[in-house]
Amino acid sequence: MIATKDLAEELRATLRGNVLAHEPMVRHTSFKIGGPADLLVIPEDVEDLKVAMAFARSKGMPSWVLGSGSNTLVRDGGIRGMVVLPSAFQALARAGNEVTAGAGVRVSRLLAFCSKQGLTGLEILSGVPGTVGGAVWGNAGAWGGSTADHLARVQVVTDTGGELTLEREAIPFRYRFSGLPKGSVIVQATFALARGDPAAIRQRISRWLVQRNATQPVEFRSAGSIFKNPPGDFAGRLVEATGVKGTRIGGAMISERHGNFFVNLGDARAADVLALVALARERVRQTAGIDLELEFRVVGVD
Ligand SMILES: Cc1cc2nc3c(=O)[nH]c(=O)nc-3n(C[C@H](O)[C@H](O)[C@H](O)COP(=O)(O)OP(=O)(O)OC[C@H]3O[C@@H](n4cnc5c(N)ncnc54)[C@H](O)[C@@H]3O)c2cc1C
Repeated sequence: MIATKDLAEELRATLRGNVLAHEPMVRHTSFKIGGPADLLVIPEDVEDLKVAMAFARSKGMPSWVLGSGSNTLVRDGGIRGMVVLPSAFQALARAGNEVTAGAGVRVSRLLAFCSKQGLTGLEILSGVPGTVGGAVWGNAGAWGGSTADHLARVQVVTDTGGELTLEREAIPFRYRFSGLPKGSVIVQATFALARGDPAAIRQRISRWLVQRNATQPVEFRSAGSIFKNPPGDFAGRLVEATGVKGTRIGGAMISERHGNFFVNLGDARAADVLALVALARERVRQTAGIDLELEFRVVGVD
């Protein structure tokens, strides 16, 4: 078996971007939890990304993409393989009523850009942490709207290294799911927006933020909603009804404020969070007969 450090050296020789070996994932997730990734790669541009993906393929290494890790729990043993972080993909440009944003652009930056440009449509994403890549991949949304509502097209690099532009109609979006080709990496996304008054757009962005801060435990580290809402109900309500809000395991707790937010009190391990997930799921199954589906992504090994 080739040592990780040697693999990192080999990749550094061909990549213009950054290659980190044994990188602790606590640094790259909003939960601030997770063991080290064997390799974490930050490609400079699309060509560099293709080099990294080809390298992983040639070595038979599994690879994962990470945006800002705000919907991801990395297990305590870390990640065997390569993590690709498209954080250098920061392009942000307007053409007519369309805005194209690189996968690494923070949603908050995209919203600030749109309000300055007087382009409306994405305000419901106000306060959703993460990147454009993460929002498109998981069809992030709030208050009944979602990222797909104003998407025009997405550019991806496929798992075999091809570049593909997919129009919105060709992507089978549904609730918190995009159905984009497995193993592909989003490079950029284009949104079709409408003209609006910048001050009114700013006001809507602030209003959604205030509402969010009033209902979510934003003062703690978390990964947003743990479970998807089942049809016709709310996961938070179902968890709350079982009486487990406030339950602690190790350094993790089911938020007292919101039943669908599990928080890191400071020194939580992934195992603590997963034990709480199992507990809440089992209680909801017993009391409501509903099998809740995970909304956040769990990666890595124990
Ligand atoms: C306090 C808090 C509040 C939240 N509120 C909401 C909310 O209201 N609505 C909501 O929908 N979510 C919410 N979330 C969850 C999270 O913010 C969103 O899911 C967000 O879109 C994730 O973006 P990210 O860049 O952090 O993705 P990550 O967690 O890094 O990744 C999530 C998924 O997207 C994939 N991915 C990321 N980038 C790419 C890319 N470039 N190419 C291919 N795949 C990619 C990853 O592989 C992974 O499967 C909240 C989270 C927190 C912490």
